Amino acid sequence: MFQLPTVQFTEEQEAFRLEVRNFLQEHVEKGTFTPKCDSWLSGADPAFSKLIGEQGWIGMTWPKKYGGHERSTIDRYILTEEFLAIGAPVAAHWFADRQTGPLLLRYGTEEQKQFFLPKIAKGECYFAIGLSEPNSGSDLASVKTRAEKVEGGWIVNGQKIWTSNAHVCHYMVTLVRTSPFDGKNKHAGLSQLIIDLHAKGVTIAPIKFLTGEHHFNEVFFDDVFVPDNMVVGEIGNGWEQGLAELAFERSGPERILSTFPLLDELIQELKRQGNKEGLKQATKLLSRLWGLRNLSIGVAKLLESGNGQDVAIPASLVKAIGTKFEQSIPEIARLLVTTYPKLDAERILDRYMAQSILHSPGFTIRGGTTEVLLGMVAKGVVAR
Ligand SMILES: Cc1cc2nc3c(=O)[nH]c(=O)nc-3n(C[C@H](O)[C@H](O)[C@H](O)COP(=O)(O)OP(=O)(O)OC[C@H]3O[C@@H](n4cnc5c(N)ncnc54)[C@H](O)[C@@H]3O)c2cc1C
Repeated sequence: MFQLPTVQFTEEQEAFRLEVRNFLQEHVEKGTFTPKCDSWLSGADPAFSKLIGEQGWIGMTWPKKYGGHERSTIDRYILTEEFLAIGAPVAAHWFADRQTGPLLLRYGTEEQKQFFLPKIAKGECYFAIGLSEPNSGSDLASVKTRAEKVEGGWIVNGQKIWTSNAHVCHYMVTLVRTSPFDGKNKHAGLSQLIIDLHAKGVTIAPIKFLTGEHHFNEVFFDDVFVPDNMVVGEIGNGWEQGLAELAFERSGPERILSTFPLLDELIQELKRQGNKEGLKQATKLLSRLWGLRNLSIGVAKLLESGNGQDVAIPASLVKAIGTKFEQSIPEIARLLVTTYPKLDAERILDRYMAQSILHSPGFTIRGGTTEVLLGMVAKGVVAR
């Protein structure tokens, strides 16, 4: 049905993994950050993002002329695995690095590439994803936020919801309707605009997470002017462009490793207790992880070829199976060890348990729900 390449890490790549691991460990010891589960979405720390930018670890695969470092997709994969495994606070720059950069490299104008990419690579410019609306989540083509043409640009009115970290970000890649639904093709007439989140007419209102943290938002647009040079790609081509972006969004190690710090700590605890039966169960989780990881790395390698749409099905599969795996870690952990989950607990295991339990309902919703993804996989299989 689809064939994914297998990837063998080279000695240089293993050495790079060690370099990243040592760097992160050193910064934990220095107190630069406190590791946590699901840190790629809820750990926004601009100072840490700038530190990572200085290391040359944002925009790693992008051309040097745009501030990138022309490293391989696999190097980037290793880097993100290490961030997630330790639970580093990478959320501020995450979306810009993962999907806005590749989107602009593919569809952006030369002016956009020169303006945004070097700032993103330095860890100084963050992007939010503006897709979901109060009545448009899975059925994204029904978005109602509209942009009307005026001289020199577009006037945007409408609302987005569940926008992760919009309050920390500088810009949002926003899916808007630029021409009304013609009654036939609901995917036509959609466009992507870069909206400055500090522009006049933009209001950002917090939605508190289950943990009480401010992580996502409602974003309102009231006659917001967006200049013509902030249109991404072609007007009316937003659906196709957005699909290409989604493959980057769905297939990465963050769909497998959000609760890995808990799994790691669980194994340490079982070892401390000498609990052999518990370790056997935990090892089963590790073997599931191994298979998923190979699937995810294979998609990363395919994405290197530059055609996001060819990998839509395996990317959906990684997200659908991977997020179920992430959810199963706290479920299995609580059967193997006694814990007292509390966000401010002293014991690391208790803290990681609380973070995992409270964050995990969102894993199978964000980035496309499991039901919708499995529907896409089924349709894709039938069509082949
Ligand atoms: C932690 C988190 C962070 C998020 N961050 C962002 C963000 O930064 N930017 C952004 O734009 N959005 C974000 N979202 C929103 C997310 O993308 C949507 O919640 C998701 O796409 C589902 O849309 P919905 O909430 O409108 O649910 P609905 O689409 O209304 O779905 C409700 C239920 O119906 C089911 N369903 C719907 N359609 C079908 C179908 N065709 N077949 C079978 N079942 C179906 C779904 O599986 C689900 O169970 C985030 C969500 C979470 C939880």
